Order: sequence, then C-alpha cells, then structure tokens
Amino acid sequence: MMIIMKANATPQQVEAVIAQVKSAGLNVHLSQGVEATIIGAIGETHNIPAERFEGLEGVDTVQRITQPYKLASRQFHPENTILPIDGFTVGGDEIAIIAGPCSVESRSQIIETAIAVKEAGASALRGGVFKPRTSPYSFQGLGEDGLELLAEAREVTGLPIVVEIMSQVQLDVMVKYVDVLQVGARNMQNFNLLRVIGESRTAVLLKRGLSATIEELLMSAEYILAGGNQRVMLCERGIRTFETATRNTTDINAIPVLKNLTHLPVILDPSHSTGLADYVPAIARAAVAAGADGLIVEVHPDPAKAVSDGKQSLRPEKFAEMVKQVGQIAQIMGRRLAVAQGEYTKQGWA
Ligand code: PEP
Ligand code: MN
Repeated sequence: MMIIMKANATPQQVEAVIAQVKSAGLNVHLSQGVEATIIGAIGETHNIPAERFEGLEGVDTVQRITQPYKLASRQFHPENTILPIDGFTVGGDEIAIIAGPCSVESRSQIIETAIAVKEAGASALRGGVFKPRTSPYSFQGLGEDGLELLAEAREVTGLPIVVEIMSQVQLDVMVKYVDVLQVGARNMQNFNLLRVIGESRTAVLLKRGLSATIEELLMSAEYILAGGNQRVMLCERGIRTFETATRNTTDINAIPVLKNLTHLPVILDPSHSTGLADYVPAIARAAVAAGADGLIVEVHPDPAKAVSDGKQSLRPEKFAEMVKQVGQIAQIMGRRLAVAQGEYTKQGWA
C-alpha cells in the first residue's frame, strides 16, 4: 500500500503515519521524492482497509499497488533509481559498460584485459571466479585467488569490479573484494542467496533466469529490496526459445517493458544473449537505442584459448570499435558513456 503525503505535510505528520503503519504490523519504506513523500506500507496489507490511513493528518491519498512486486515497482517509486558505483552512476544519463572475460584465468590474462577494456572506454571490469558450469568436469573458477587477481586489476586500471556470487557461503569473502555482486541467471531464484544479499549493502547486478518471466525477475529483485539493499540493477541476458541459431534469444522488449514497470536500472548482456561474438556489437547498439542503462560484455585477449565462453567473447579491438558505436548511439539518446573515477596506473604491473 502506498500512502502519498500532501505536498505541505510536516515531518511530524509523516512520523505519525509511519507509527500507524508499524502498529498495523507492516514494514515501512519511506521514499522522499522531489514531487511527493510516499510511505510504503509493506507486508500483508490485503485485510487492512485503506481508510485506516486515509483520515490521518497530512495524508493525500492511499493507493494499493496492483503488482505482486512493490518496492521494485515504478508505481511505488516513480523516479528512476540512479545507483552510484565508483564516480559514475547507473540509471541516469550515463551508460555503464562493464567488460572483461567470462572467467579470470591468470594474472596476465585479467590484467591485460582490464587495461584493454579501460583504454577502450569501459567503466567497470567483469570476471568470474566461481563459475556456474553445466558440467561438473568443466573449469569451475579460481575462487579467492581469482578475487586477488581482480583486486590487482582494479589497482592498475581504477575500474570497479563485478563478480558473480553463486552461494551465500561466498558472501563474506566476496564483499571484501567486489564493487558489484552479480547474481547469475541460474541463481535468479535462489531465494536464500537473494535474502542474504538483501542484508548486505553491496550493489547487485541481478540477471534474468534462462526461462524466467519479467515478473519473476522483478519478484527476485523484490527479495533483495525487501532485505533493505536498494542498490539493485537488472540484467536481460537472453532467454531460451526454439531458436538455435544463437545461444539464447535477446528479449529486446524486456528493456522498455522493465523501464516501464520498474525504477531500477536495466542493463543488457549481448554476449550471453547471442552466444556469438559477431552479433554482440549489433545487439549492444540495439540495447542502448532501446533505452538500456548499460551493457555487460565478455572480452578476451585470445578468445580461441578462453576456458569459458570464448565463442561469444570479443577481441579487445572489436570491443573498442563497439564502444565507439555505442557512444554515438548514447549521444543520440541524450546520454553519455560512464567513466570510472579510479586512478589508472598502467605502468609497472608486470
Ligand atoms: C556470466 O556472466 O559469465 C554468466 C554465467 O552469465 P549468465 O548467468 O547470464 O549465464
Ligand atoms: Mn560467461
């Protein structure tokens, strides 16, 4: 339920309404926007009549949120959420480009890639260290050693790092190293994991499940938001369809649909959504033209030798070309590419 306060409501009136919401056994989510103060009453609201709050002083209107997700809905939070990451933002005028290998493989591989993507204009570095592989016999990632290498790559390039978390037991070690926790497609509905991430305050990139609907993605985001972590961005990464020419089918519709339904930033992963490097730049351009707030792209210095997802990984030169094109599309859309604020000290890493 949303309790919309009058424009001239006093802080005391807001406090009194909050006390009433709590006494009804509901949780409070306060949103003080430019236009209005909205008190979200979250919980089992179906048998609480709106009249309970309508007559209180300073209250303008009381509305029920019709969608099953509340905190994630644009109805509840009309303005875009703009997430600060590291001197840049996601969800506002800037387009974030997160780039790097599928997996961290070695010190030279991750640092060379980090330097290449930094020089091409990326705003953050990605790299998996706990890998969700279809086969238990495939490379599973370097674990904490990989996090150390990513931390060094961040030192060298100043790029914040985005890393996938697969289990709640990894949370303590992950939050020591990473700037953004990635929840992968296969874990989008790992509700225990979403709950513990909700208790942390690290930013989250939540990927859409392989066969998840947009509503299911938003319900997963709701788990994180309900825990108190408001730093969530959503990621479309392609869905399973009957089509076999590409690894997945990019649901480009999801971008405007999500921007309409939610205030959270929306980014697109053209690497997993196509599965083939040749198609990545076209889909990256399409995503920004469709209103995406950023991209997450796999880049590898030698894709043929990559231990995972080589076929969909761009060589650094192709990535640099793609960033230029995306920058031009961003400009047409009245936006610009995000730049990380960290210091870039390429010299001396070797
Ligand atoms: C990845 O980003 O490398 C990855 C495993 O992605 P997804 O969860 O979208 O398959
Ligand atoms: Mn991958």
